[in-house]
Amino acid sequence: MDKFANIALDIPVDSLFTYSIPDYLQESVQRGSRILVPFGRRILTGFVVSTTDKSDIDKVKDIKSALDTEPALNDEMLNFGMWISEYYLSLPGEILAQFIPKKLSIQSEVVYASAEDYAARVNELRGAKEVLYDIISLFTGPAGAKLTKKQIDKKLGLNTSYYTEYLVRKGILVKEKQYSRATRELTVKCAVRNFKGSSAEEVIAEHGIKTPRQIELIKILSENAKVETAALSKSHGISSSTINSLYKKGLLKIEEIKKERSHTELFEEEEKQLVLNDEQEICLNSINDAVISGKFKAFLLHGVTGSGKTEVYIRSLETVIAEGKTGIVLVPEISLTPQLIKRFKNRFGEKVGVIHSKLSEGERFDTYRGIQDGKYGIVIGPRSALFAPLKNIGIIIVDEEHDSSYKQETSPRYNARDMAVIRARFNSATVVLGSATPSVESYYNAQKGKYELIRLSRRATESSMPEVKIVDLRRKSETDGFEYSEEIEKLRNRFFSKELAYAVKKRLERKEGVILLQNRRGYHSYIECINCGRVEMCERCSISLTYHKKINLLKCHLCGYTKRAAAKCSGCGSEKLIESGAGTEKVEEFLANLFPEAKIERMDSDTMVSKYKYMKVLSDFHKGNTDILVGTQIISKGLDFPNVTLVGVINADIGMLFPDFRATERTFQLLTQVSGRSGRSEKPGEVLIQTNHPEYKLFEKVAEHDYEGFYNTELRSREAGMYPPFGRIGLVEIKSKNQKEAERISRNAFDTLKNFKYGSYLQIFTPSQPLISKAKDFYRYHVVVKSSRKTDPSGKILIESFRHLRQNTDSGSGVRITYDIDAMNFL
Ligand code: ADP
Ligand code: ZN
Ligand code: ZN
Repeated sequence: MDKFANIALDIPVDSLFTYSIPDYLQESVQRGSRILVPFGRRILTGFVVSTTDKSDIDKVKDIKSALDTEPALNDEMLNFGMWISEYYLSLPGEILAQFIPKKLSIQSEVVYASAEDYAARVNELRGAKEVLYDIISLFTGPAGAKLTKKQIDKKLGLNTSYYTEYLVRKGILVKEKQYSRATRELTVKCAVRNFKGSSAEEVIAEHGIKTPRQIELIKILSENAKVETAALSKSHGISSSTINSLYKKGLLKIEEIKKERSHTELFEEEEKQLVLNDEQEICLNSINDAVISGKFKAFLLHGVTGSGKTEVYIRSLETVIAEGKTGIVLVPEISLTPQLIKRFKNRFGEKVGVIHSKLSEGERFDTYRGIQDGKYGIVIGPRSALFAPLKNIGIIIVDEEHDSSYKQETSPRYNARDMAVIRARFNSATVVLGSATPSVESYYNAQKGKYELIRLSRRATESSMPEVKIVDLRRKSETDGFEYSEEIEKLRNRFFSKELAYAVKKRLERKEGVILLQNRRGYHSYIECINCGRVEMCERCSISLTYHKKINLLKCHLCGYTKRAAAKCSGCGSEKLIESGAGTEKVEEFLANLFPEAKIERMDSDTMVSKYKYMKVLSDFHKGNTDILVGTQIISKGLDFPNVTLVGVINADIGMLFPDFRATERTFQLLTQVSGRSGRSEKPGEVLIQTNHPEYKLFEKVAEHDYEGFYNTELRSREAGMYPPFGRIGLVEIKSKNQKEAERISRNAFDTLKNFKYGSYLQIFTPSQPLISKAKDFYRYHVVVKSSRKTDPSGKILIESFRHLRQNTDSGSGVRITYDIDAMNFL
């Protein structure tokens, strides 16, 4: 048996640590085990990556204890984790920590119980030490007594490890796994409104509330009687101290309320009995063949919006289950809708385990345990679901594979779509990447034969693709042919055309649903002073503050900083302020004025303060209780509502001008996806896209549903710039509160990369400040590095260069450096 274990700890040190395995832990410490070790003065959780019987280190400390009876990570998961760690230069401990629910809350403990036929075996002990009988007597009392080792030790007042293990070997005691109760919380904490009737303003005045956060919270509570505290901190940056302050003032109560009913219960949708069409049959057959072959194979499923991809996923999972295997379905968080979950649950019932960010730690733990124990054969969730501890994986499906949320933007910076392909390979499984708008990289892989391309070119229902019109916002609206309407005729603003207003009006008359996309939340995106030109900026970041009217606050969308909106310029005191850039809040208000009779709901991260609200809004819209749904990109994906016949895009230019080589691609994807929400049943759909730049070729491609056309143009420009798929992009970000220091380190990084042996293989750009040059008080510098696929097909050169940089950079104090392979975010 090995005496030493090499352990990955979740601390920022790029190496494994060696500890010795004490005798009594020999059995429970193996590759993949989760253990506790002393580290300095702390006790840390780590994973055993390997064990050996030799160590060169003189003073090796003992592992303190093992956290689970069986290794938390099996070989496959461990190998997969180490692969990710190599490729993305993330620390092993950091990546392995992603595999299990956060915190120690998921601690499982070993309990001992008497074996069924222990009595006969006890007789065989004869003449053994007394202590053994003492231990046995603990279990012979009330039937089924279960005790942890700690409890046994305590009762007998000595360390009994050796003896209990002996009794296990003799078949008198058995070991079982039990999960600590503390984690099984079934409640969520909520802040509950505790003021009456009066408006938020009155409450604020009456109680002399001054701080912006408290004001914001009062306003949120005046609209929502009950809000989860976790949602407050997550979407609004409202901390527990703010909540406590209002609690002390008696303005809110804290309640532990029972976990809300699960997603699907509120959302009703009949299960449809579908007969696959020809194209779906062909796709399914190809996938089935691969699944049954039991060999690794990757597919790109390019299916237009509404072509019935979900049904293909479901049927292929049926095959996987029939083969006795398991499957993972990855979806972007925002398309993890009750509707999608309902469809899988309708078919697979209790076999489906759902993971999403709104789960409490307790729920997350329960799901995790369910997967481990084999209760769930299918796991659906966002990127982290890729790490589900399923055994015998037969398929991994990545829906909306182009979505940028698959890339984690904090360490470890993995891309779950790319890693799905890797995990499938480790499992000799099938991987299906599906999208109506595949990423340029994936489509290229399909063209090169790395993935097999399968297609769904038509909508699955009787409907055809919606008619898409581009509306020029600069032109005076043509209203010929429209029915005269006094209110609309009077419309004079820069963001809502008469065409769109007419189109909405028609839908209201016909009782058809409308979806309006404005990919910007808040009321105004910035406020500018005419007198001195000052724009109200965040104090901590280099971006402008967004005005939120309902709460009357200016808010930074990056760091959450808030400030009261004043009527005067904070620079020169002038009252001549102009407000620019309409956000969802303004669009909502505008619509309410124009169509007072319409029922309108807004869906963005400001309004979705609880999962109940989210479900309610979707369910109301589905039932036709809501006429118009206004929202950010949250509403662009996955929704399959047959009654929607109009989709309007308020401003298609948002995002187009970002300094990012993927800006065009992302705009194409967003517009195509949101367009795809229109006309999904027999009633024909229409899409109106408003823009100030109708000359952009891109809009034509969207209007003509011409993915290939878009792809070909895009591919040429990618090739010209050696961007993916022709080159890999790595990004080194250097940030510090001290700008000089950040700049200095970034210049050093540039030199180090240049002078390394691979310097001449790489295209290394001089350090520059990104668009958001300062965020949360940190000044930021970027060093962008490109590596050609021709000279560096596996990425080794780029990765090795970054590794060299990491080993040779003394970041000094207060400077933070991150390394991002296959970077997606350059802002
Ligand atoms: P996608 O994910 O490709 O955008 P969905 O999977 O949401 O599309 O399917 C769109 C609609 O078509 C759904 O309402 C679904 O029930 C329906 N549908 C799928 N396959 C068929 C079929 N073979 N016959 C009839 N309707 C179908
Ligand atoms: Zn001014
Ligand atoms: Zn900020």
